[in-house]
Amino acid sequence: MPGFTTSTLHSDRRGGVEHGSLHKPIHANVAYGYEDVQDLVDVFQGRSSNYSYTRQVNPTVSALEAKIDAMERGVATVCFATGMAAIGTALFALLRRGDHFVSSAYLFGNTTSLFQTFAAQGVDVTFVDATRTDAVEEALRPETRLVFVETIANPRTQVTDLEGIGTLCRERGLIYVVDNTMTSPYLFQPVDVDASLIVNSLTKYIGGHGNAVGGAITEMGRYDWTTFDNIDDTYKRGDPSRWAITQIRKKGLRDFGATLGPESAHHLAVGAETLALRMERQCANARALVDFLAAHDKIAKVYYPGLPDHPQHGRTTRLFRHPGALFSFEPTDDVDAFALLNRLELVVKSTNLGDNRTLAIPVAHTIYHEIGPERRAEMGIADSLIRISAGIEDIDDLIEDFAQALGGM
Ligand code: PLP
Repeated sequence: MPGFTTSTLHSDRRGGVEHGSLHKPIHANVAYGYEDVQDLVDVFQGRSSNYSYTRQVNPTVSALEAKIDAMERGVATVCFATGMAAIGTALFALLRRGDHFVSSAYLFGNTTSLFQTFAAQGVDVTFVDATRTDAVEEALRPETRLVFVETIANPRTQVTDLEGIGTLCRERGLIYVVDNTMTSPYLFQPVDVDASLIVNSLTKYIGGHGNAVGGAITEMGRYDWTTFDNIDDTYKRGDPSRWAITQIRKKGLRDFGATLGPESAHHLAVGAETLALRMERQCANARALVDFLAAHDKIAKVYYPGLPDHPQHGRTTRLFRHPGALFSFEPTDDVDAFALLNRLELVVKSTNLGDNRTLAIPVAHTIYHEIGPERRAEMGIADSLIRISAGIEDIDDLIEDFAQALGGM
């Protein structure tokens, strides 16, 4: 078996690319024509895996799907316009009014907002502390269909009980959806904890360069879809492990149309080639910055699962190759967080994470502004909390930037 980077790097070429091209070319094309109309009908009726219309499939996007699939050791992957589109489309395609699902309370803010929209449409959700499997178990109801978690939560870095919830979902016949964005398949592969479906925002570490948005859902072939009532008869053809992902592609992309464009797919596929290299560097930079800040007298608290006093440190070391490249911190009370941020010269004040550049953001005033102070307090987000997404810069330059910014405070 070739290693992670070898397989990612050579996956296009092994797919027999046109003219021996090393990258899958960008198929800037909408519709596909056939000499024999029966061939077109076969595509529509699922007897052929050829192409008909780019909203649902495009060769450049298919090549990226195969790459993500190999990275996650899945059975099939569907790509979407963004990570949010991936989560929204998959859940809309699988859940029905009256269904219930349990979600981690420590969730990317926009996903929380999406799940509140689900609740308003009649698909109820209960948010729980997913660092504890018993909290998930207590929230289960007869109509619970699915459990949704992230690996490492952003921005306070809580680590989900991924193994415990995996076992619970297997025993209770629940769909287990793991958002792997924060770890990426290089640090962690949720198939190892029996995930049914995996979410990746390709915008973040997989793309890595901050030049394209995208998302993916990967089917792991672990869940028995023959026991799930919400699969339409049309998609119950052939291997049952593909029923749900076919419904997500055919119905989900048809109904919502949140399709990934071929140009973006190309950018994301090129970015994916260096995921392992970038992640090694980003995690090492995060660790060095965490050590510098944790020892600084102007810093009150640093949140990073690589620190021995982090509540889920043991779980982190057991499950992940590295503890991630994202951390957050609170300066001491006498330090104004905005003034500190404005003194940074190299680190970019920006949203996003997983970019090659180191990014900093005051979370309570930006990405967690809309949810209000009460919910922020529940999530442990202080007004002074600053989130850092470590990039690939030379570490001495990053430390020097924080040192000069804090030096004047
Ligand atoms: N999931 C997680 C854990 C994220 O952090 C994000 C974005 O930050 C998303 C999903 C959504 O991804 P996108 O921005 O590509 O819609």
